[in-house]
Amino acid sequence: MSVYTFLNSENTLNIGTMYCIGRNYAAHAKEMGAQVPDERPLIFIKPPTAYTANGGKVAIPPFSSNLHHEVELVVVIGKDGNNIPIENASEYIAGYAVGVDLTLRDIQTSAKQKGEPWAIAKSFRGSAPISTVVPKEEIDTQNAELRLYVNGVLKQYGNTSAMERSVAQLITTISDIFGLQKGDCIFTGTPEGVAQIPVGATVKAELNNICMVEFTVG
Ligand code: MG
Repeated sequence: MSVYTFLNSENTLNIGTMYCIGRNYAAHAKEMGAQVPDERPLIFIKPPTAYTANGGKVAIPPFSSNLHHEVELVVVIGKDGNNIPIENASEYIAGYAVGVDLTLRDIQTSAKQKGEPWAIAKSFRGSAPISTVVPKEEIDTQNAELRLYVNGVLKQYGNTSAMERSVAQLITTISDIFGLQKGDCIFTGTPEGVAQIPVGATVKAELNNICMVEFTVG
């Protein structure tokens, strides 16, 4: 079973369900020809087998020829909870990491056109590279910088201040609908600038100057 590792700590945490938020930055929703959802967030799920550790290699499935990067703030959950009140949300956070919501854009586009689920496009094995986890005190989620580099060239930059729904709001909503468990995480959405990753590329994602995850694509 895969585990999260923590910065400067021997602690580990088994990786559970990954809840992923779509269209949580208006500029990214716009570049996809979509809008920020009104009523409730757009949510999809990746299984623990999606996890890729720092230094890993992600294989593009043979049925896709368009792998996209989406750099995101990841919230790691440290305690089980249902119907978590917004004012208590921070008690359920074990820490933060940076992750890449890898997406088979050609498969997703086809699924959207046919009204089919996004599971294959978003949740294939290895589709969730995640860094080591830092304590929650290290990150201000209203002002944290996300960067993603492909072969050393900056491709995505954003600040979490542009998120439409806050970390606390997302914890409340997901715990209301699904319930949250220790080891689950939340991918909080990507800023604009998503693009294709060439085969053989090295990708590096950063959260401030604290978290980093690097992987290759083959
Ligand atoms: Mg995403």
